[in-house]
Amino acid sequence: MKRDSADVVVIGAGVSGLSSAYFLARAGMDVVVVEKGSVGDEASGRSGGMISDRIVEPPLVPTALESLKIWSTLDEELGYPTEFVHQGRLHVALTEEEMGEIFTEREAAPKYGVEVNQVDLPEMQDMIPGISPQVLGGNFFPNGGHANPQRTVQAYAWAFQDRGGRLYQHTTVIGINVVDGKVSSVETSAGAIATEVVVSAAGPQTGLIGEMAGVRVPVAPARVEIIATVPLEPRFKIALVGSGLYGRQSTRGNLLFGGGAHEWTDVNLTSDPAKPNTPMIRNIARRLAELLPEAENTRLLRSWAGIVEQTPDQFPIIDRLGHPEGFVVVTASAHGFGLSPATGLAVSQLVIDGVCSFDISGLKLSRFAKIDKSWRQAWGWEKGAYNT
Ligand SMILES: Cc1cc2nc3c(=O)[nH]c(=O)nc-3n(C[C@H](O)[C@H](O)[C@H](O)COP(=O)(O)OP(=O)(O)OC[C@H]3O[C@@H](n4cnc5c(N)ncnc54)[C@H](O)[C@@H]3O)c2cc1C
Repeated sequence: MKRDSADVVVIGAGVSGLSSAYFLARAGMDVVVVEKGSVGDEASGRSGGMISDRIVEPPLVPTALESLKIWSTLDEELGYPTEFVHQGRLHVALTEEEMGEIFTEREAAPKYGVEVNQVDLPEMQDMIPGISPQVLGGNFFPNGGHANPQRTVQAYAWAFQDRGGRLYQHTTVIGINVVDGKVSSVETSAGAIATEVVVSAAGPQTGLIGEMAGVRVPVAPARVEIIATVPLEPRFKIALVGSGLYGRQSTRGNLLFGGGAHEWTDVNLTSDPAKPNTPMIRNIARRLAELLPEAENTRLLRSWAGIVEQTPDQFPIIDRLGHPEGFVVVTASAHGFGLSPATGLAVSQLVIDGVCSFDISGLKLSRFAKIDKSWRQAWGWEKGAYNT
């Protein structure tokens, strides 16, 4: 067993952990990332790659706007390509209920400095040729975008290592030692690492890591999926959100769409990566045909699944705790890919300065202090239940 030490140990090499590790290493800290599998093998490498979804939700806005700012120069910052495309996002409504969301969003966006344009059907048909004529209305957000998840996680990892960061893959964190109320070391399958700061960026395993440090972090794992059709004529570059789905057309022409239903599940430290299942694929395919009717007769090429980490209010947690001292929680509640540049920056600032330069006050763990232990049961978020 080797005895090791670091200024900071980050648990998890997804986008949240790698981005945090990158910004910490950039600031000169000695950082080790411990990952039970390999870089981006879980949600981060399987994501839809959409940036700025649900930007008009107040607690998220400062983080989302900060993220967009960093995304625009992230390739130069990291020195590796993420394939970031800044083309905007069209959010459409197919029902009166969805139209309500469109109006709410349109009204709220300017209050938070988010640019939004009302668009009518002919404009939407120009933006997305082939969009359903049943669409009732929509909003265009010019500042949204997307990037390639695989390339992004790799870019963070390489840039982190270029700054002297150490990445221990296929190494599982099995315990956290706390002495006199302070983090003192992390136990891994390859030995202990002495440290005064632990960043828990373990995605759906965040609750399990919290337990190791004596902290309750309410996170419910959910399986979500994406489908990819065979390539069609490339017609649009902007992202499309509607009918419960989000997605885009790849440069080659494949329609890549996810969302719709998700299935609540459980995870442990040795869980296998998630696999897709037929009812969920069907659900996405049906919704896609509602949005883009030509998809109904288009063959499916492949599909994949991943496990996201949902907090009770579905907003991230980014917090440096006082008990135990030195324990930092970062978990993104299924917004993690788009938010990752800002979550990483926030974590580095919390570790180094104790405060963040943008407002993350709505993302503290303490907002769940009163939530009952059986919240998942009470809300019907238990293993095997579906949300549609
Ligand atoms: C199909 C799909 C589509 C998505 N689409 C989008 C999208 O379009 N836009 C968007 O913003 N978000 C999207 N998301 C959500 C986004 O991918 C996640 O919020 C984000 O990737 C979470 O990143 P993370 O680093 O916090 O967690 P993860 O990527 O889950 O990484 C956590 C890491 O911690 C490791 N780990 C856990 N326990 C331990 C341990 N004990 N020891 C060592 N390592 C451990 C895991 O192996 C894992 O690699 C999507 C997710 C999925 C699955």
